[in-house]
Amino acid sequence: MKKIILKTPVVTILGHVDHGKTTLLDAVRGTNVATREAGGITQKIGAFQIIHKKKKITFIDTPGHEAFAKMRSRGASAADIAVLVVAVNDGVQPQTKESIAHIKAANIPHLVALTKTDLPNISLEKIKKQLSVEGVLVEGYGGDIVCVPVSAKEKQGIEELLDMILLIWEMNYKGNKGDKGNQGNRFIVIESYMNNKIGPLIHAIVRQGVLKTGEKIYIDGREGKIRALINDRGEKITQAVVGDPVEIQGFTTVPVVGSIGTTSGDDKESSGSKDFAASENQGEDKIEGEEKAEVEEVPTGDGKRLPLILRADNEGSLEAIKASLPSEIDLILSGTGNISESDILLAKTTRAFVVGFNVRIEKSVAKLGETEGVMVKTYEIIYELLEEVGEVAESIHEVLATEKITGRAEIVQDFLGTKFRIAGCRVREGKFMIGDKVRVERGEKVIGEAKITSIKSFKEDVQRVSMGNECGIVLSPEVDFRLKDVIICAHPIVKK
Ligand code: GDP
Repeated sequence: MKKIILKTPVVTILGHVDHGKTTLLDAVRGTNVATREAGGITQKIGAFQIIHKKKKITFIDTPGHEAFAKMRSRGASAADIAVLVVAVNDGVQPQTKESIAHIKAANIPHLVALTKTDLPNISLEKIKKQLSVEGVLVEGYGGDIVCVPVSAKEKQGIEELLDMILLIWEMNYKGNKGDKGNQGNRFIVIESYMNNKIGPLIHAIVRQGVLKTGEKIYIDGREGKIRALINDRGEKITQAVVGDPVEIQGFTTVPVVGSIGTTSGDDKESSGSKDFAASENQGEDKIEGEEKAEVEEVPTGDGKRLPLILRADNEGSLEAIKASLPSEIDLILSGTGNISESDILLAKTTRAFVVGFNVRIEKSVAKLGETEGVMVKTYEIIYELLEEVGEVAESIHEVLATEKITGRAEIVQDFLGTKFRIAGCRVREGKFMIGDKVRVERGEKVIGEAKITSIKSFKEDVQRVSMGNECGIVLSPEVDFRLKDVIICAHPIVKK
């Protein structure tokens, strides 16, 4: 029997500016024996790892929802668990709300760290109540979201926070059946830049399997070789396992943050299965029951409700607009101030559209909206905004009635071909053909859209596959699917 080891959780910290995220990360880093022994000098590689109660935990070093959104922009989440930081002297603030929206959209387990508890005249209950108003239902307020009081300054509550992170991780991964050893090696780029001497540097977190020096890697269709791997203590290592943060040297270009990298090891192998034996006993990334994470229902662009991100110049107009939105609208995030890049990225991952009232869109934000295919519009008259949003909301009913599903398949396997990730599917309905535009759904949620670029039936390339058959489907762009996700091909019904 193979021993099951739970993979290392990757944790990210979000919350309002000045609420103590950086200080909390420093306090957590201070618990790391290995770092202390090395004289406290850590190599900045975008994330660091500590050992708590003999278990590893990786923390993403750049806190905040902007970084989180960037890392998620290609569909894969860099983090497994989010810690929402709320300073008890300040309570829920605009960026707390934004962070909540991002956490919910990512659909990952989360907990709350109530920081700065060393300050006088504070009320934890008041903050918990504020959180419950924002839909973060903590213990004692109608929910079971864990809340840990901490003082990073006084180093109080840090152990408890780490305990709770591990507990939540273990609770959410009860369904772990162990490593199947054939699911490939994958990593996510969390930082990337050009170094004059070394060349392109990638800071990444291994999300599945193992990375080894000398291996080929593929990112966004480009190929490179791992010349060197550096860990978070600045040491050269020969391999990094799932959950590890690592610097990768030797890639040919500087990839975009959020990109997913893969490795086929020996690229002459067509199935690649031999190479993946390396990931045995390193834990499991694709875990059954993963989607049962205990988080609240997330509004998404599922075709039945219309996700919206709303920005207005002041609270008064914001409340007025919110009160008049049609019932089909799922307000993912609303707040005052200009439309930001992270709003666009949140809109992309939740398939929302973004509207602003009396606010500005910076050129760079507008450009991001264009490249990411996010609809962004600003208005100067509330009535116009409401009318247009209302029209779009109404059209949703028509959309619902005008779609015909021509193919539906369940993903039952996840493996890596020479260069691409393959979804092993069982076709439940209709048929699929190369070139079909499809969407991948997880429960009620659409997690990505892509084109079918290859269909394999018993290792043979085929043009089409029909109901009752099993096949391997390659999607482009890559979608971060999981087992039990459903691939759907639907065509609009053309009305006469
Ligand atoms: P960030 O913007 O969320 O990363 O916040 P920082 O970590 O930079 O902290 C903002 C300010 O709050 C700094 O002046 C910190 O010294 C202070 N601070 C952070 N944590 C604590 C704490 O636990 N107690 C107190 N009293 N101050 C804190």
